[in-house]
Amino acid sequence: MRIVLLGAPGSGKGTQSQRLAQVHGVPHISTGDLLRAAKDKGTPLGLAAKAAMDAGRLVADDIVLGMIRERLREPDVRRGFILDGFPRNLDQARALAQLLQQLGQPLDAVLLMEVPQEELVRRIAGRRTCRRCDRVFNIYTSPPSATEQCPKSGGPHELYQRPDDNEQTVKERLRVYDEKTRPLIEHYAKEGLLHRIAGMGELGAVTERLEAALRAGLQEARAQRAQPRPARRGSTTSSRGAKKTAGARKPLVR
Ligand code: AMP
Repeated sequence: MRIVLLGAPGSGKGTQSQRLAQVHGVPHISTGDLLRAAKDKGTPLGLAAKAAMDAGRLVADDIVLGMIRERLREPDVRRGFILDGFPRNLDQARALAQLLQQLGQPLDAVLLMEVPQEELVRRIAGRRTCRRCDRVFNIYTSPPSATEQCPKSGGPHELYQRPDDNEQTVKERLRVYDEKTRPLIEHYAKEGLLHRIAGMGELGAVTERLEAALRAGLQEARAQRAQPRPARRGSTTSSRGAKKTAGARKPLVR
């Protein structure tokens, strides 16, 4: 399965991606995690990304695309992948389509997690990450259980709050989402790949909704690929592959 989890900061993409990745045995690829790791190590790429991340803005496309291009060429990705936090704007979406076309691995589905704004803010305020295993918790909605151990350290999870989860930066991240990332909803709807999932409620219930959407997406993708070209899947709500997105623009992925 090759999917993108789309949604505003705090919509639960990270937590749900981790759950899906574990169940389906595919890598969870989060550009935020990759950038934070580069930043913590102080690599040139991490240092270049730091200012934008700390301010809640998007990191330059060439940095993110270079990173994702490398990651998607690793062998574990042949089983599939879950992309979390990428793409984040239309240019990244077009570059991703080109890259996946080169790799012969088109997307199966884009799952959009919808959560009201007040809830997003509340969730981000409670978000904590284990600095050893990177697992994401929420001190209000999904704290680690008293007996749970970190698989990396063997002791209790070492929770920290991301520096960009402060109130000012969160406001900017939500604004950037509306301006740059929200247009992807229409883009992927036109591609016939979009599935909307209500992201409210208990963690397990949201996972079940995601799994149901994923099953539908995989089935549609299989049916679509089985059709002889140029016939396309008939649908009242979507038209998978009906709209060309690449071609007219300068390639971002080489
Ligand atoms: P996230 O963990 O997905 O919330 O990402 C944290 C921060 O990393 C974002 O606020 C951006 O500064 C940066 N970032 C993550 N993914 C991308 C991306 N695809 N494009 C640009 N910047 C990104």
